Amino acid sequence: MRNFGEALHIRYNQPMFRMMCITAHPDDEAGWFGGSLRTYHDRGVETSVICLTPGQAGSYRGNARNDQELAALRRREFAASCEILKVSRAVVLDYPDGQLYRQELNRVVYELVLHIRQFRPHVVLTFGPEGGVTGHPDHSIAGIFATVSFHWAGRNNRYPDQLTNRTTAHLPHKLYFATSDQALPNRQPLTFSPESACIEVGEHLETKISAFKAHLTQKPLWDLFESDMRRRGTRETFHLAASLKPGSTKQESDLFEGIS
Ligand SMILES: [Zn+2]
Repeated sequence: MRNFGEALHIRYNQPMFRMMCITAHPDDEAGWFGGSLRTYHDRGVETSVICLTPGQAGSYRGNARNDQELAALRRREFAASCEILKVSRAVVLDYPDGQLYRQELNRVVYELVLHIRQFRPHVVLTFGPEGGVTGHPDHSIAGIFATVSFHWAGRNNRYPDQLTNRTTAHLPHKLYFATSDQALPNRQPLTFSPESACIEVGEHLETKISAFKAHLTQKPLWDLFESDMRRRGTRETFHLAASLKPGSTKQESDLFEGIS
């Protein structure tokens, strides 16, 4: 039995730490990152979620009569989920669901780099290139766009037109991929990034399940995802993909470890 109490009492002081999570679809923020988003909010971290698509190609469509109506519904559901997770800055961009691999890299990365330069996160979370436990291609591509953006946001020679008195280059400290020990049942083979950080989210397992259920149009998926979330329990696992600090990785229990 683990002792969960200590980690849950960590609270950061000024200056405020910031964490940005880059996802593909409304509901990704809850299922894969929700426990950490809410746990870090409780510790005084300012959080942001940037979701690349409004989920207009979803198989489950509620009462939506067309893609525009579904996008509008899912934007509202995303806002409700982010309210439960107490995300400070929740943004849905307008790229086409199911089509991220067709988008011009430079265009998407330009937009994400600007978000990183404006919000100035210390830590960035996203999907690994395998695409998470579903292996959804949009998750893979969102992770690739986020990874390039993480690295380019700090370089003065990338998109210098964004750099003004108010917006300067920004190099976040760490990039993490969400990872898992097991795919959902009946999926194509998935090779996960090794776990290097495990966040104990405690009671926020229930919070993230509630946030997932704010996505009413996705009701047919609730049972599948709830059972996977409960199987993984109160732990959310990540892989450290980049760090300002050189050297070998060691197992972490805090995504802000080593950042001052
Ligand atoms: Zn998704």
